[in-house]
Amino acid sequence: MILVMTDARTALKLVEPKPKRQLNPKTWVKISRRQDLVEAIGWLSILWVTFTFLIDGGANQINNLQTSLSAIERLTALVATDLLLIQILLIARVPWLDQLYGHDRATQTHKKLGKPILYLVLVHFICVIWSFAIADGKNVLDEFLVLVTTIPDLITASIALALMIILVVTSLRIVRNKLQYEAWYLVHLFGYGAVMLAIPHQITTGTDIAGKPLAESFWIAAYLFVGLNILWFRLLSPIVFSGVKGLKISEVTKESSDSVSITVSGKRMDTFSTNSGQFFIVRFITATHWWRAHPFSISAAPTREAIRFTIGNRGDDTAIFQHIKPGTRVILEGPYGIFTEERRTKSDVVLIAAGIGAPPIRALAEEISANSGEVSIIYRVRDRADAPLADELTEIARRRGFYLHILDGNRRSNKSWFPKTVHQSKSDADELLILVPKVADSDVYVCGPVEFTRSVKTALKTVGTPEHQIHAEEFAW
Ligand SMILES: Cc1cc2nc3c(=O)[nH]c(=O)nc-3n(C[C@H](O)[C@H](O)[C@H](O)COP(=O)(O)OP(=O)(O)OC[C@H]3O[C@@H](n4cnc5c(N)ncnc54)[C@H](O)[C@@H]3O)c2cc1C
Repeated sequence: MILVMTDARTALKLVEPKPKRQLNPKTWVKISRRQDLVEAIGWLSILWVTFTFLIDGGANQINNLQTSLSAIERLTALVATDLLLIQILLIARVPWLDQLYGHDRATQTHKKLGKPILYLVLVHFICVIWSFAIADGKNVLDEFLVLVTTIPDLITASIALALMIILVVTSLRIVRNKLQYEAWYLVHLFGYGAVMLAIPHQITTGTDIAGKPLAESFWIAAYLFVGLNILWFRLLSPIVFSGVKGLKISEVTKESSDSVSITVSGKRMDTFSTNSGQFFIVRFITATHWWRAHPFSISAAPTREAIRFTIGNRGDDTAIFQHIKPGTRVILEGPYGIFTEERRTKSDVVLIAAGIGAPPIRALAEEISANSGEVSIIYRVRDRADAPLADELTEIARRRGFYLHILDGNRRSNKSWFPKTVHQSKSDADELLILVPKVADSDVYVCGPVEFTRSVKTALKTVGTPEHQIHAEEFAW
C-alpha cells in the first residue's frame, strides 16, 4: 500500500470540477418514482393481455381437456409475447431505460426473464399441438407434422421456437463462458429474428388478435414502440449524430505496455451531454471492424471538443485498436450508464478501480465536486510502473488534495483483492477500513473485472456501507 501525495507535475489539462455538490436525496425519490411508473406499465401490460383474453370469453369455453388446452395455449402465447417485448426493450439499451436502471440491472432482469418466457412458449407449443390432435383425432406427432407442413406460418413459428431454445441455452452461464462474445452476440441477433418469425402466426392463426380492434391496436402499438425504440436509438441516431458531428480519432497516445488512449473529436461534442463515469458503444469505421462495436468508458471528463477513451489490450479487437490510426471515422452510441455523480448521496467518496477499470474512475476523479480530503482513490494494479492512467490519477490527486492508494502486486490469496501488505493477517474489510476509515459513510464507486467488483462489494457490505451507496460498473456482457 502506498499513500501518494506526489510532487510529480505534468502538463495534464483538467476541466474545472463540477461547481456544486450533487448530494441530492430528492433525485433518488424522483428516480424511484419513475422506476415505479415504468414497472407498473410493464405489469399493467400483462394484466391487459389477460383481460383481453377474458373479455373475449377465453375462460368461458373451457369444458373438456381439448378446450382447456386451447385456453392455456392462448393465454401463454399472449403473456409470453408481452414479456418477450419487455425483455427485448430491457437489453436494447434505450437511453430512457438505461438512465433509470443502468445497464447492469437491466441486463440482470433481462436474463431473469429468459427462462420463464421459454417455459411459457413451450407450454403454448405443446398445448397447441395436443389440443389440435384431440380435435382431429390424431396422435401428437402426426398432428405436428400436418400443422407445420400445411400452415406456412407455423413453420416459421416452429423455427422461432427452436431459435429461442438456442438463445436460452447459450445464455446459461456454463455455456456462455465457453462462447466467444461475437458468437453469443450473433445468437442474440437471431433472437430478434425469432420474434419477427413468430409475428405472422400470431396474426393469421391466433384467435386473440385478428379482427379484434382492442387487441389489434394494443399489439400494433407494442410492436411499433419496441421496434421504433431499437431502430432509432440503436441504429439511426448513432449514425446520424456521429455523421453530423464528423467524429474522427484525433489522437492516439500509449498509456502502458498494453493500453492506449484514443481521443475522438468532432463538432459540439458537448451535445452528447456525457457525464464522467458513462460509457459509449464505440464503432471504429475501418475496413475490417466497422461491423463490430465495443463498450468503452470515457477516461477523461468530456469537453466541447473531444471525448477520450482508454482501451486495454484484452482480446482480438482491442489488440488491433492499440495501433488504430488518427483520422479513422467513429460512430458513437450512447452515452450510457448510471455510474455517475448524479447517484451520489454523501460528501465523502471512495473511487475503486482495478486494471482497465481505471478509465471511468479517472474521469470521475477529474470532474467530481469535492473539497480536499473528501475523496479517496484506490487503484489495484499488477505493476505500478505499467498501470494505465496511474500518472494522471496521481496528478489529479495531487492537484485536488485527494488520497490515492495504488495497491500493486499479486493477490495474497484467491479470495482476496488485496496484495501482500504489512497487515497480512487482516481481512479485506479490515484493510479497507485502514485505508478509508469513513468508507461506511461514503459513496463508493467500483469498476473492474466481475470477480474483483464482487469481492470489493463483499468487503463493503462487511464494513457496513449501505447498498444504495455502492455504485458498480462491471466490465462484462
Ligand atoms: C460498460 C463497459 C465499459 C467498458 N469500458 C472499458 C474501457 O474503458 N476500457 C477497456 O479497455 N475496456 C472496457 N470494457 C471492456 C471492453 O468492452 C472489452 O474488453 C472489449 O469489448 C473486448 O473486445 P475484444 O474483441 O478485444 O475481446 P474478445 O477477444 O472478444 O474477448 C476478450 C475479453 O473481453 C470480453 N468482451 C468481449 N467483447 C465484449 C463486450 N462487447 N463487452 C464486454 N466484454 C467483452 C470477453 O468476455 C473476453 O473476456 C468495458 C466493458 C463494459 C461492459
